[in-house]
Amino acid sequence: MPTDTPIKVRLAEVPTPEGRFGRFGGAYIPETLVAACAQLEDTYNRVRRDDRFWDELRDLHTYYTGRPTPLFKAARLTANARARASHGHGATIWLKREDLAHTGAHKINNTLGQGLLTKRMGKRRIIAETGAGQHGVASATAAAHLGLECDVYMGTEDVRRQRLNVTRMKMLGANVIEVDAGSKTLKDATNEAMRDWMDSVEHTHYIIGSVVGPHPFPMIVRDFQAIIGHETKAQCLRHMGKMPNAIVACVGGGSNAAGIFYPFIDDLPVRLIGVEAGGTSNDPGKHAAPLGLGQPGILHGSLSYVLQDENGQTSPVHSCSAGLDYPGVGPEHAYWKDADRVKYTSITDDQALDAFLHLARSEGIIPALESAHAVAEGVRTAIEMRDDENLVINCSGRGDKDVEEAARLLALRASR
Ligand SMILES: *Cc1c(COP(=O)(O)O)cnc(C)c1O
Repeated sequence: MPTDTPIKVRLAEVPTPEGRFGRFGGAYIPETLVAACAQLEDTYNRVRRDDRFWDELRDLHTYYTGRPTPLFKAARLTANARARASHGHGATIWLKREDLAHTGAHKINNTLGQGLLTKRMGKRRIIAETGAGQHGVASATAAAHLGLECDVYMGTEDVRRQRLNVTRMKMLGANVIEVDAGSKTLKDATNEAMRDWMDSVEHTHYIIGSVVGPHPFPMIVRDFQAIIGHETKAQCLRHMGKMPNAIVACVGGGSNAAGIFYPFIDDLPVRLIGVEAGGTSNDPGKHAAPLGLGQPGILHGSLSYVLQDENGQTSPVHSCSAGLDYPGVGPEHAYWKDADRVKYTSITDDQALDAFLHLARSEGIIPALESAHAVAEGVRTAIEMRDDENLVINCSGRGDKDVEEAARLLALRASR
């Protein structure tokens, strides 16, 4: 065998059978969950090669979710961005409209996929954790449609702050279990859901809400969200006649970003930009940017970048958008960061609020505050590009859920 054969690194070929993305990922879990994760991995490895499963999921997306979601040429947003730049130039901006998917965000791509997986495993019940309630609603929706029982764990503090989503979940027939432990938020709800799963794994599947958690969850969620990137690639070739020059997405746990990036990961000329929540400052507790400001550590069963203090205790986080308010991030993003394949930046609360209004008034599209982070970074990047280049922003969700909070923040800002 020749020894001088160059080793071709293919970033798409992860994780390893042990669940490693480079040095990140893995499964740091109690013994009682090892069997559950192994069973899930076995089922998924079989399903992965089963065309009937993917055909069934594709039909569900076509007739129920409303896929493919459009790739929309945002002509007025582009013109306004160019007009704001002193030189008057910039790339054409396109929006991938995940806000038009059923339930108003990309989360349904994952919950329907894992819902079908639950049925394949012969299980009758799903459980989920939720913070702001978006993943809880998407899980309750999938459960109602597929005829599964659904229990959603939610901290009492979040239940108080997100009344509307609690009501939606109950209307959809799900049971909301309030968690009164610790900080009474997402982290504590996740712990309780994991505890439930240890005792109920025989008939219950745990649907985790992003590309986080122990192996095989980050891989499974990425694969179900990759439909965003596959559609985007085909739509770019159809509408632009070529690949896009750049793609921008917001990063909370990282599932909408992983979904749109992954099919492009080995297309090196396509610039990929992930946007974390810059909050109000870079001080601890004032942002949610683990890739930019965190250190490698273990959170919820996998090794990735985590916001933590010098003793390894998870730090408090802040963002104006509830979906980005998480101290960890999926291990594959940590891998892409260290490989220098994806550039990670951050956008502050104030900049996101500006972009929220900018998109609403330029195009008549009110984005989720999470997605507004991607819009802000997308506009900033586009005006540094040539007029004949194309930039795609993943519009991960619609902003109906955020109008009240955005109005409150805008009024607060006006009074300062
Ligand atoms: C939950 C959510 C996010 C953040 O989650 P990711 O896993 O990082 O995608 C982003 N946008 C919207 C609309 C969400 O609901």
